Amino acid sequence: MQQSEILEIKNLLEKLFVAQGKKPDSDILADFVSEISTWKYPFSAVCAGIKSLYSENLPVIKVFHIRQAAELKIDRTESRGHCHDCGGCGVVSMYRDNGYSAAMGCKCSKGADVATKMGLIRWNGQEIQYTREGRFRTINKYFNDMGSNPGQAVSHQKAV
Ligand SMILES: [Zn+2]
Repeated sequence: MQQSEILEIKNLLEKLFVAQGKKPDSDILADFVSEISTWKYPFSAVCAGIKSLYSENLPVIKVFHIRQAAELKIDRTESRGHCHDCGGCGVVSMYRDNGYSAAMGCKCSKGADVATKMGLIRWNGQEIQYTREGRFRTINKYFNDMGSNPGQAVSHQKAV
């Protein structure tokens, strides 16, 4: 996990303790964070899992509660992957020389799915791509913000 992700998790854990009417003890938080940072779960699933516990009524907060909650969130978030180009949504936006923009399927595996479903051209991963329809340039690797992009989009996920 990246440092920014660890900080975000610590921040969410603090909120969880407060939401549960407990004092966020810094030693306990550090233990939780070091345990969680060894998990191979997607960062977004861990965050969603912690958030899902805010409204639970937990007599004690154990790290396995968080583990269970994170696991419940994995299926929904797994397919988004960790792509830093599309933010996990599978689409990047490009523009043509004529100024019009167009969507392309990202070079990642999610992009392959989306390109097939939506009939999009696959992005070659370069800044410039030549296709039958002309020359495209990457303008915005994040086609939209609906993807929860672990790492780079952390700052978009502060809400709760
Ligand atoms: Zn992608």
